[in-house]
Amino acid sequence: MFCVECGRDGPTIDGLCASCFRKRNPLLRAPDTIDAVVCSDCGRIEMESGWARVDLDVAIPRILKSRVPVDPRATRVTFTHTARREDDRNLALTVKAAAHVQDLEFVESFHTRLRVKRGLCPTCNRKHSNYYEGILQVRAEERPLTTEERDRLVAFIEAEVARRTGKGEEVFISKIEDVRGGADVYLSSNSTARTIARELADAFHGTVGSSPKLFGQKNGKDLYRVTFLVRIPG
Ligand SMILES: [Zn+2]
Ligand SMILES: [Zn+2]
Repeated sequence: MFCVECGRDGPTIDGLCASCFRKRNPLLRAPDTIDAVVCSDCGRIEMESGWARVDLDVAIPRILKSRVPVDPRATRVTFTHTARREDDRNLALTVKAAAHVQDLEFVESFHTRLRVKRGLCPTCNRKHSNYYEGILQVRAEERPLTTEERDRLVAFIEAEVARRTGKGEEVFISKIEDVRGGADVYLSSNSTARTIARELADAFHGTVGSSPKLFGQKNGKDLYRVTFLVRIPG
């Protein structure tokens, strides 16, 4: 095949050789700046698929892929980069993009600046607003808890929440309140509060009672805040 533009012999796309095709159809439009949002609390990075616990360096190729407009005919698009730190907020990136259009491979380099912005992911945002769905009340039968019991029960709940967070569950304690006779632990998830209430009662030979309270609606479904009362034997 001969290029209709320069007459060179070789593979063509739309009648053009690779270099003439590229002159007319840039592979991509390099943005001057790209923003990356990092949660100032937990350090997760906002990606197209959600907030991810990854290093910025690992996140950059994925961020580039979602932010750099590439010729829609391009396939097998990959980005590699080197980063130079300008200051706390800015990275100077040298990016190499490789892609195929039909059978021809194109490689293009460009410079851009990655601005690192601070934000709050939805989980940390909830934490900051003291969001809760369930309250775990720890008490004893017909007497106040001793300080030692109170500490052991609360530590049990904290350890159970930490174990779930370690497995990647989105759950947290929004506050712990010392009240007359025991303590109230506010949890971000009803179902977790329920499970931990059972575990707590099993571990300390106690009982569980629950009382739901309607507090709103989400997607047409009623939302309840449930108070779980765990009593250990008197
Ligand atoms: Zn040509
Ligand atoms: Zn966060």
